Amino acid sequence: MSDHDHDDGSHLSEIQLRVRALETILTEKGYVDPTVLDQIVEHFETKVGPHVGAKVVARAWVDPTFRSNLLADATKAITESGRFGTIGEHLIAVENTPEQHNMVVCTLCSCYPWDVLGLPPVWYKSAPYRSRVVMDPRSVLADFGVTLPPTTGIRVWDSTAETRYLVLPQRPAGTEGWSEERLASLVTRDSMIGTGLPAQPGAQTS
Ligand code: FE
Repeated sequence: MSDHDHDDGSHLSEIQLRVRALETILTEKGYVDPTVLDQIVEHFETKVGPHVGAKVVARAWVDPTFRSNLLADATKAITESGRFGTIGEHLIAVENTPEQHNMVVCTLCSCYPWDVLGLPPVWYKSAPYRSRVVMDPRSVLADFGVTLPPTTGIRVWDSTAETRYLVLPQRPAGTEGWSEERLASLVTRDSMIGTGLPAQPGAQTS
């Protein structure tokens, strides 16, 4: 696999080695139950991810009542719908319109709506993103390949440990009559952070 000549840990990255060492110590000292730890990791690897948020967005696109409930109190609307799992954090949904595009950051660290988007992308935690998106969101968007009309304002929302944000992107034109499932396939993770837009229906292969 590599030209390294170490023992059996050599295929692990440094961070993986550190995590393994930490897990071993915590388990040996009885602080963590490895079975529970495995369940937590599996939960975030398979059950929670942007597919959850995509379903929420698609639902909001087809159901005006759910949409207004979502914008009023996202935590309550999502949890009470019983369709997307439980939201254990204070979640606020912010809606993109032709007049206002929303972007989410955590300037202090990396707070992120895990319940609907899963694990944050690496760039979300990077210092350049966290500082530049506040100073010059339009150029950050350009880096992501997104150009908005000059008449569209950009609002940046700063997450905290107490409050997380989910962007409700605009429904792409040309999707009239689409099923929720098909609509959800257009909703990218970045479109729910505000660094991207939903995929366009023409770009779809199916
Ligand atoms: Fe944070």
